[in-house]
This record gives sequence, structure tokens and C-alpha cells, in this order.
Amino acid sequence: MTLTRNILLLMSKNHWMKNHVPRWKFVRRAVRRFMPGETIEAALDAAAGYEREGIPAVFTKLGENITQIEQAEQVRDHYLDAVDKIAERRLTAEISVKLTQLGFDHSVDASREYCREIVCKIKNRLGNEFFIDMEGSAYIRRTLDLYFRLKDEWDNTGLCIQAYLHRTEADLDDLFSVNASLRLVKGAYKEPADIAITSKRKVDENFFALSQRMLTRTKHHGTRMIYATHDEKLIARIIEEAKIIGLPREQLEFQMLYGIKTSLQKQLARDGYKVRMLMAYGESWYPWYMRRLAERPANVWFVIKNVVKQ
Ligand SMILES: Cc1cc2nc3c(=O)[nH]c(=O)nc-3n(C[C@H](O)[C@H](O)[C@H](O)COP(=O)(O)OP(=O)(O)OC[C@H]3O[C@@H](n4cnc5c(N)ncnc54)[C@H](O)[C@@H]3O)c2cc1C
Repeated sequence: MTLTRNILLLMSKNHWMKNHVPRWKFVRRAVRRFMPGETIEAALDAAAGYEREGIPAVFTKLGENITQIEQAEQVRDHYLDAVDKIAERRLTAEISVKLTQLGFDHSVDASREYCREIVCKIKNRLGNEFFIDMEGSAYIRRTLDLYFRLKDEWDNTGLCIQAYLHRTEADLDDLFSVNASLRLVKGAYKEPADIAITSKRKVDENFFALSQRMLTRTKHHGTRMIYATHDEKLIARIIEEAKIIGLPREQLEFQMLYGIKTSLQKQLARDGYKVRMLMAYGESWYPWYMRRLAERPANVWFVIKNVVKQ
């Protein structure tokens, strides 16, 4: 893990910066590279365009670790309304949420109830899947518990899992046993060595090892498994592995973020793979944006270039 990545991840949690940085014009301009806008309407417009190119969206409203439980109710209402808007626009977009945005720090029961309301409406109105993001390691056990309870009641619930965690390999067994739809990512938070693999090369290897198990799962049980990465080498290895085990390309799904490797996303969609683009929107983008910079510190130059453009 590089020093720059560590500094950016520490900055993502700094309160002073969280309150001040989003007001700086050049940062606001730079952040547009990773999000279509701050409103759901901006995300819907962008999603409609990409859906026409065979790349449907996954929506996530930015904002995490809310400070009052009433804010969680507003987030719940926002997503319920977003489901209507997706249906009215006849899009096949899905929704993925962060539990800390739905009051997880205040009341696990309340956030589970909010998830139930959202997933129920998604099932009835959109007929697609509702996903839960995986956040920092302090939340993992509770997130899995909530997920298993929700999945028991609502089959259309999927979960994100992180390849950098030592525990994920063992978690797969439990998740397979409930036929969970899974989205595999490398992991975006700053975690200690006893919890997460810290060498990038080893994270990539673990991502591939987990992918092999997931591909086999799809092959034998048809379970939906998603590989959410922009790593072209890993994507090529996963495609190769799918060929080896005889998994048809229509059963292979990749997800990437808005604004990153767009031409690769289009190429994969044209080649017949399933591709979805995660579109984040909202006003509270600061910590999320800092994690995007940490993933590729070269992005900081993009921010600096925007100072010059002022
Ligand atoms: C759909 C989706 C959902 C996600 N959900 C979660 C979640 O719930 N929990 C979680 O912890 N993490 C989540 N992540 C983030 C993930 O953990 C990684 O931090 C992120 O995807 C970067 O890792 P990578 O797999 O692309 O590989 P990397 O090795 O980081 O990147 C591979 C290549 O992709 C390009 N790239 C990657 N990131 C960027 C960037 N920010 N800007 C420009 N180029 C870039 C670069 O060319 C880089 O060399 C999600 C990612 C995606 C795509």
C-alpha cells in the first residue's frame, strides 16, 4: 500500500476536510469525472444513454455514516422514490445501498426495516435485485447478519464482498449455502494487516482465487456472480477461466464505475458479456471521492489541473 493511498484514505475521514473541500470549485469540477451529477435526475439521464448501449446502471446515492436517524428515513424515502422514477423511465437500473446511510450506526433493526421496505418495492416495481455495499471492517459481521436475515425473506437481495479481507474465503461457504448473489470487489477502505491483505499483488491473486469459486458456482447453480473491477488483467483471466470451465459469456457479469474505463465497458458489452455501470450521485460525495483518488493517486493530478483551469 503506497503512502499516497494511506494519506488519501486518512483524508477521507477528516471532518474539517469533509466540511470544507466540497465547497472548493476546482474539486467540484474534478469530481464530475466520476459522477453524472448530484441529483437522481442527472443519474437517470446518464443511465438512459448507457442503457441504450447495452450497459444498464446500478444507482447509489452518496452519503455515509449519517449523524441522525431521521436522515436515514430521508434516504429510505429517496430510494423508494428512485424506484418509481426508474420504473417510469422504463430502465432496468438496480440499486445498491450503504447500510451506514440507512442508520446502521444508530439502530441495526431500523436499517434492516428500511432495507425491507426498499427491497420489497424493488421486487414489486422493478423485479430486479437490491444490493448491499460492504463498508469498513467494523461493519462486516453486522452486515453479514443483516444480509442473511434479509435474504431469508427477500430472495432478490445481493451482497458485496471484498477480496482484500482474510475472512472472505470462509464467508463464501456461508453465502453459497443461501444462494447469495454476490458482487466481488477488491476493497476500498484502509484496513490493518490482521484483517486485510495489504499487498496489492496478493489482493489480486485472492480476487482471482475467489472468482474461480464464483464462476464454478454460476456454472453449477446458475447463481448470479458479479466481478466488479477495472483491472484488465484480472478481467482477461476471469474470461479465460470461464472459457475453461465452459461458462457461456452471457452468464459472466462485470461491473465498473461511471467515468472509469468506459471504452472497456462498451467493448465487453459489445462482446456479449453482461456489464453494469455503478453511478453514484448526491451532494455528500467527499469520502467516496477520496477513496476513488486513493485507488489511483494519479487522479490527484486531474484535480490539480482543474485548479489551473480556474
Ligand atoms: C461496481 C463497483 C462496486 C463497488 N462497491 C464497493 C463496495 O461495496 N465496497 C468496497 O469496499 N469497494 C467497492 N468498490 C471499489 C473497489 O473495492 C475498488 O476500490 C475499486 O474498484 C478499484 O479497484 P479495481 O478492482 O478497479 O483495481 P485497481 O487495481 O485499483 O485498478 C485497476 C485499474 O483500473 C483503473 N482504475 C481503478 N480505479 C480507478 C480510479 N478511481 N480512477 C481511475 N482509474 C481507476 C486504473 O487503470 C487501474 O490501474 C466497488 C467498485 C465497483 C466497480
